[in-house]
Amino acid sequence: TTHLVWFRNDLRITDNRALHAACEDPQARVIAIFIATPEQWKQHEMAPRQATFIYQHLQALQHSLAERGIPLHYHQCDDFADSVSWLKDFCASEKVDALFYNKQYEINERERDLALEKAVSDTVMCHAFDDSLLLPPGSVTTGNDEMYKVYTPFRRAFLARLTESDSRSLPAPQARENVEKPAMHKLMPFDYPLAAIGDDFAIGEEAARNQLRSFCREQVQDYLEQRDLPAIDGTSSLSPYLAIGVLSPRQCLNRLRTECPDVLEKTDGGAFGWLNELVWREFYRHLLVAWPKLCKHQPFVDWTDGVRWRDAPDDLQAWKTGKTGYPIVDAAMRQLNSTGWMHNRLRMIVASFLVKDLLINWREGERYFMSQLLDGDLAANNGGWQWGASTGTDAAPYFRIFNPTTQGERFDKAGRFIKAWLPELADVPERDIHQPHRWADKQHRVLDYPLPVIDHARARKDTLAAFEAAKKRS
Ligand code: FAD
Repeated sequence: TTHLVWFRNDLRITDNRALHAACEDPQARVIAIFIATPEQWKQHEMAPRQATFIYQHLQALQHSLAERGIPLHYHQCDDFADSVSWLKDFCASEKVDALFYNKQYEINERERDLALEKAVSDTVMCHAFDDSLLLPPGSVTTGNDEMYKVYTPFRRAFLARLTESDSRSLPAPQARENVEKPAMHKLMPFDYPLAAIGDDFAIGEEAARNQLRSFCREQVQDYLEQRDLPAIDGTSSLSPYLAIGVLSPRQCLNRLRTECPDVLEKTDGGAFGWLNELVWREFYRHLLVAWPKLCKHQPFVDWTDGVRWRDAPDDLQAWKTGKTGYPIVDAAMRQLNSTGWMHNRLRMIVASFLVKDLLINWREGERYFMSQLLDGDLAANNGGWQWGASTGTDAAPYFRIFNPTTQGERFDKAGRFIKAWLPELADVPERDIHQPHRWADKQHRVLDYPLPVIDHARARKDTLAAFEAAKKRS
């Protein structure tokens, strides 16, 4: 018999449920496939950096699979529809008896998988696994069997279920017996813009696991004190690996439990604080499945679609390029543009600034983030943007509006982060770093840095009025 493993967002051999199941029968011939779909990726606004990260991990995956006697085939189609018809033919030509894959929960991905299962149903047995989450969507519900709309009760129910569930990590498969090591063909680069990634994120499962281990050993205890300070490496920086499945959430949970065995009892500690973020990741994915409209960029709260957003291309451009005149916003956007990663506190600040100060449609921000992020993930990104825009399930109320200056003062007091990204503010003293023009005026100096594009107090009033008007109209 021939078993085919279809890799998508699970580019690892350790703790991969589909791969593990495909290898269980020692007699089976096991082969693997990855299908690139550049046109689809364009529609999903995938960042060229993320495509490059995937490509590099694919090379690592090809190598690890070959060591185990499993050849990785590679093909490039335009989009998901093409990938279905191509895969059907591939199954026929390779005489595939059983197909193994890990589920993706976004709407286009789910439709693709349904179409494929239908197309091959006469000859191929399909096995789909819940792998990218600690608990599958639909398994954590209210007494009425509905998905939670608010995070805290979701977390309570989630943790209760988690303790009952089997979340052990699976080992990487053994090498296949009596199989020659397959030839390593060079993987053709994707027909997609590629971009340099830098050294912040090493390639490979082992690198990701090492980073996880050292974070859980050395840093997680201080997570609560440090997680909001962008000048410090106080968070795990594992999101790029989790987003493309180089690391699984079970590996994160199990490593955390090994290093901090009392994580579930000591709910005020750093370890629990970090686990809480993993649960946010789950919450947003469960929401996508319960309300597929979220995959189509519709707001969860319908009336918020009536907000009359400003059409302000210059302001949008200033935000994208880090030239709004608000130092914490600009430093954050330059970090994103140059590395593809941004600290969570800063994601919240820049999202609030775009939506609540510039009154620009949150979808512009969501799209721009996707086009830049190394860790771009529809569920987390949409969830984060709808939270910031007060259009989502568990959103901050619309009248809660961050003040970008005081946020900077609170979370980057001495301006260390700001100075790292805005060299034009190098001479500005610490106490003035959040309002540099005030200092420059006193010094009779002219800074090579833009004046604020908008007055926060006025913007706040306009935004409140725009949300109130939309609510009244609904
Ligand atoms: P840690 O603090 O170490 O957290 C561990 C892991 O938990 C992360 O790697 C991530 O997988 C998950 N996580 C942490 N915070 C959140 C959260 N708020 N929501 C969901 N999962 C979370 N995260 C993405 O992975 N991809 C995105 O496209 C994305 N877009 C975002 C957009 C906005 C506007 C906001 C406010 C947040 C977004 N986040 C996104 C969530 C969060 O900012 C990042 O996951 C986090 O900054 C990654 O850094 P880390 O790995 O050091 O996180």
